[in-house]
Order: sequence, then structure tokens, then C-alpha cells
Amino acid sequence: MFGLMQDWPLLCHRIIEHAARCHAEQEVITRSVEGPIHRTSYAQIHARARRVSQQLDRAGIKRGHRVATLAWNTWRHLEVWYGVMGIGAVCHTVNPRLFPDQIAWIIDHAQDKIVVTDLTFLPILEQIAGRLPSVEQYIVLTDNAHMPDTQLKNAVAYEAWIEAADGDFVWDTFDENTAAAMCYTSGTTGDPKGVLYSHRSTVLHTLMANAGDSLGAGASGTIMPLVPMFHANSWGIAFSAPSMGTRLVMPGGKLDGTSVYELLQAERVNYTVGVPTVLQMLLVHMRERDLELPDLRMVACGGSAMPRSMIKAFLDRGIGVRHAWGMTEMSPIGTVGGLKSPFQDADEEQRLDILQTQGFAPFGVEMKITDDRGGALPWDGKTSGHLKVRGAAIAKAYYRMNVSILDDDGYFDTGDVATIDNHGYMRITDRAKDVIKSGGEWISSIDLENLAAGYPAIAEAAVIGIHHPKWDERPLLIVRLNEGKSATRDDILTFMNGKVAKWWMPDDVVFVDDIPHTATGKIHKTALRDRFKDYRLPTPGA
Ligand code: ADP
Repeated sequence: MFGLMQDWPLLCHRIIEHAARCHAEQEVITRSVEGPIHRTSYAQIHARARRVSQQLDRAGIKRGHRVATLAWNTWRHLEVWYGVMGIGAVCHTVNPRLFPDQIAWIIDHAQDKIVVTDLTFLPILEQIAGRLPSVEQYIVLTDNAHMPDTQLKNAVAYEAWIEAADGDFVWDTFDENTAAAMCYTSGTTGDPKGVLYSHRSTVLHTLMANAGDSLGAGASGTIMPLVPMFHANSWGIAFSAPSMGTRLVMPGGKLDGTSVYELLQAERVNYTVGVPTVLQMLLVHMRERDLELPDLRMVACGGSAMPRSMIKAFLDRGIGVRHAWGMTEMSPIGTVGGLKSPFQDADEEQRLDILQTQGFAPFGVEMKITDDRGGALPWDGKTSGHLKVRGAAIAKAYYRMNVSILDDDGYFDTGDVATIDNHGYMRITDRAKDVIKSGGEWISSIDLENLAAGYPAIAEAAVIGIHHPKWDERPLLIVRLNEGKSATRDDILTFMNGKVAKWWMPDDVVFVDDIPHTATGKIHKTALRDRFKDYRLPTPGA
């Protein structure tokens, strides 16, 4: 027997329709790529998104066609998203921080028909346009006054392009399983892989993201996503903010500490979300000038592990912290941390212990940890294993790739190694490929990095395994010091001593001027392993 409820397909454009109806005047504020602060509302974004749809329709874009964006977080990017999805086309957010060769490969693999770009990325596109035969037109997110000379095919300024439409365009209703958006993983190992989100998975993910323990800021709050829309849909915020009527502040392309602080402070932002490297720049800016952010209630951090010292720095400034874990394949939220009721009165160290875990799964995500043969491991907070997930907003296959990515029970292997405790708190100990295998046991590179990052002179720390004839691998700590600070190998090892098991202690410390990062802001371990492949440890027997 079926239920007798209405059939209301879960479609992404219904989110902006809802925002335009119920939160029409709620503001969307952007630091524009051209410079000035721009203010608009959900009602205007909705109206202009329909103009985008109308123009795409006139350009022959049909359901299932891919439209790429290379763009920062701005109101125009939001309009394009909803305009593309509203006609059942697929919004393909391309990460412009990838190498031009990878960008060309991705656009060609996705067979994008139109590329919408910010001014910032014109030079990249001009360099690779000859290798993009599927692209019929380039739309530049600016007005005629700022439109540069370009040879890109049929290039037009966005404002002039949508000016030619009257917005008298009705969005369709179609199957909620229709593809809505697409995002390629950064491909630090192998070719990038395309994740294809559906309208249904995206709407369900939005509801997950809105839950109290997730990133929900509600209609009373103001949120600023520092994580770009091209990085797993700005972790869902470009959907969840309009769905809740949250006032939205977009940082454009300026993510340095000064610019981020200015906007957080001037617009009285209550919630912000970003990767540790960007949040660290904010903290340094605040620390050096003794600044505060009295309106900022919560910082959510993900993408890489958030060091304990960073969590404490925010808490000490009266700012709450939520640690999130996820990945492109998961839309991306997998877990979000907060203090469950039994821990509300915990002392500071215990609170930090909990906030340092990656959190617990929201409804809609199922997790398990397994041994190498796929056998389930206990949730005892100690046993670590391969972290596998299944749920309503998790990929079951990659776009145009004929490989099976699920186990017999339908779980996807995240490539992470984790423990889960009896309260459901999950702690990533490593990426499976980064874990250091020493004498048949595993050493967590993340734990060592977090610990080292707590040493005041250290700006950033990375740990990789170096081949050792006896132990197989031993940890090497690579550090970048804060400007003007000094420290010796012994200072750092003495600081770490006693805080981890003795056999976890790094065999050596090297000082570098720069630690490489991937296009999604993570420490580029493959590049570091390559750089230090001939490194000889000073340890006896090495
Ligand atoms: P890519 O693989 O394209 O860089 P993702 O952003 O999807 O992009 O990366 C997902 C991976 O990032 C996760 O599998 C995990 O290893 C890491 N990660 C994400 N959030 C955290 C976190 N809070 N703590 C530790 N690692 C994290």
C-alpha cells in the first residue's frame, strides 16, 4: 500500500523559489571581483536566475547539458547555479586552482557546452581554449564596462547577456533524480573523477546541512562561506542558506586574513565555514592586531583536520567551533562535531578532545569501519579501520568511469582511516595512503601534525613516512616556522615528547620555507613524498 501524500519532487530550484517567496528581502552581500561591496536579495537573485535560464534556453541548452563555472563565491555565481539547474541542465563547478592541464581535461571530459567565468580566470581559459572543442560560448561574470578584450569564442559580459532576457520564464518540474550539479575530485592521485549530484540528493543534503548540529544558521543568522562554491558546493551552504533564509555574505576572491576579517566584522557575520589554512590566516590577523569578532558565534572547519591549538584559539576568543569531515563524493557532509548533552559540563581538556574529533554522522549518513578484509570493527574509540559510508547523498559511481565503487553492502570506501567511539564520535587518524606503517603498526600522521602545530613557533606541520630498512617506515616531521620565529629540531621534539607514544615520535625534523598544498587546500603529501624520496633518516639502522 502506498501513502496518500502529494508528489512534490525534491528539486534544487525550489530552494531559491522558496527563498524568494518567504525571505524575499533577505540580503546577499558580496565582495565583488571588481572590488566594491555589492548588495542584493534572494528575490532579485531568483528573478535574475530565471533570466539566466531563458538565455541558456535560447542558446540551445537542454536538460542534461553541462554548463561549467570557474567562479568565486558571488551573487552572480548563485544566479547561474539556479538558472542552470532550473532548466534541468547540469552546473559543473570547476576548481580554478587546479593546473590548467587538469582544467582542460575536466572540461573536455564533462563535455561542457558553455563556460561561465570570473574575470580572474580569463587568462587560464585563453591558454586552454584550443583544447576545449565542446565549448560553444564563454560568459564573463561582469558588466560591459569591465569586459576586457578577449578572443574566447562568442564571449559576452554576463550583465549584457541577461539584460537581453525579460525573465518571463517558468521553471519545469521533472524527475528529482535528474542530475543537477557536477564536481570533480582534485585528482591528487590519478585522473580527476566526476561526481554527479542529483536534485534529490542535493535537496536531502540541504536538509541534513540545516540540522541543528550541522551548519544551520537559520533565518536569524548571517553566514559567510569561506569555502568556495567549486569545492564540493561550498559544503552545501549555497543551498542551505537560501533554504533557511539565512543572510548570506560572499567573500568573492579575497580570502586573506585582512579581507575576511573586514567582511566578518562589517557585516556582523555569526557563522563562517572554511578550511584550516584560511581560518589560520584569519587567526593570525586577529592575534597580531588584538582584534575580536563579538558577533561571530561559530566557526565550522573541515577539509583537513583542525589542530587542537586552532580550536582553542577560537574558543579563547568566545567563538564556538564545529569540526566537520566530508568529501566531494558525499555532497560533502559526512560528520559534524558538537558537544552532545553528556559532555555539556565537561572540563576544558575533555571538551577539546571531543571537538577535535571529526564529529558524528547526521541522519542520512551511515558509517562503518572495517579491517583489510572488509570485516566490521568495533566502535570503541581505539580500533582504527577503513572508513566506509552509505547514504542518500553519497556517490554510487563516477561520471563516465566504468568501475564499481561500492562494496557488497553498498558502502563507499572513503580512503580514510578512522576510529569511532561508543557515542558515535568519529576521529580520522589518516588517509589510508598517508598512514605511516612502522613495525607492522600504524602511526597517524594527522595526530603528529596536530601536536606539532601546537608549538608556538610552528606555522604549519606535515608528517610523511620515510623508508626504513628495519621498521619499514618512520615518521619525518616537516615544518614551516612563523615569520621571524626560530626553533631547533630538539626544541620541537622535546615539546612533543611524552605527548605521544615513544615509538610514534618523529625520527627527524626538517625546516622548509613552503609546504605545498593541493587545489582544495590540503597538504600535498604526494609532492612532499616525492621531494623527500631520497631523504636519509639519522636514526640508527636507517
Ligand atoms: P579532494 O579529494 O578533491 O581533495 P575532498 O575535499 O573531497 O577533495 O577531500 C576529502 C578528504 O579530505 C577526506 O577523505 C579526508 O581525507 C579529508 N578531510 C576532509 N575533512 C577532514 C577533516 N575534518 N579532518 C581530516 N581530514 C579531512
